[in-house]
Amino acid sequence: MARLGSWIESHAEGIYVAPADAWIDPSEAKPRAWVTHGHGDHARGGHGAVLATTETLAIMETRYGPQSGQPIAYDESIRVGDVDVRFVPAGHVLGSAQIVMEHAGERVVVSGDYKRRPDPTCACFVPVPCDIFVTEATFGLPVFRHPDTGSEIDRLLHRLHADPSRCVLVGAYALGKAQRIITELRARGHNDPIYFHGAIERLNQLYEGFGVALGELRPATGASKAEMAGHIVIAPPGALNDRWSRRLPDPVTAMASGWMRIRQRARQRNVELPLIISDHADWDELTMTIRELEPTEVWITHGREEALKHWCMTHQIKACELNLVGYEDEDE
Ligand SMILES: [Zn+2]
Ligand SMILES: [Zn+2]
Repeated sequence: MARLGSWIESHAEGIYVAPADAWIDPSEAKPRAWVTHGHGDHARGGHGAVLATTETLAIMETRYGPQSGQPIAYDESIRVGDVDVRFVPAGHVLGSAQIVMEHAGERVVVSGDYKRRPDPTCACFVPVPCDIFVTEATFGLPVFRHPDTGSEIDRLLHRLHADPSRCVLVGAYALGKAQRIITELRARGHNDPIYFHGAIERLNQLYEGFGVALGELRPATGASKAEMAGHIVIAPPGALNDRWSRRLPDPVTAMASGWMRIRQRARQRNVELPLIISDHADWDELTMTIRELEPTEVWITHGREEALKHWCMTHQIKACELNLVGYEDEDE
């Protein structure tokens, strides 16, 4: 156990806010959990009471069934125990939030996962200056600099139009990335039907229910090869190389992930068209955010902690890594 400031503790299973008796994104069931966003490594089932945005609670309910949840709107401030807490947008996926806490004259912000570039499916990250900033570091190495999203989408469309007898199969994480790819395609003027794998159907519907327009979508199941030729098909990354994809017309295999920067990762999944599109901050976004928030201390959760820790120290910011278990970086 490590102590963050005077009143927040870091345990293997999560961050514990002592004066509120609450856990943030705990990896084990807890009586009181505050959940930053719906990805499975942050939002687990079985908690006693959950405080989260309405969108995150809805995502948890599609996955785990009914929650004894208390919805909190962005920027609504509530008091729990001796802590004033509010959730502000993190720009990561629909409903994702940073948790801003004030106690004993000190402000702590736990970012959860975040990114700084615009995403048509969720509210933009709001910077909140603070004393202690708890940041993720999934892409915390200077080698990770994500390119402009529009140019990656253009590469995808170019490949699609190059051979109308084939389809392009895009592997994209089911929560967030899949819906973002669809809306980015629409924003680039691609209005054709997009086919989808059954595993993303419920989340597509959930996004649409919250007002994210996805255009015309069709299930790939039951569609003929001839119908899908010349179209984009979106599936979770796990379906790229499995038997499911044999129903598709000579697919060009693509994958949308920050990891596509690493050639070896693309090769492992037999990805022909790697698209570097990430829902996490890249190196420049991480360092820009820390500069902007001017914290006196930075605590680094999952990812590549060392380089960011070093960067903080060279900028006279105290930094430390938290050894939390159960966070993965595959939600990318
Ligand atoms: Zn996430
Ligand atoms: Zn994460």
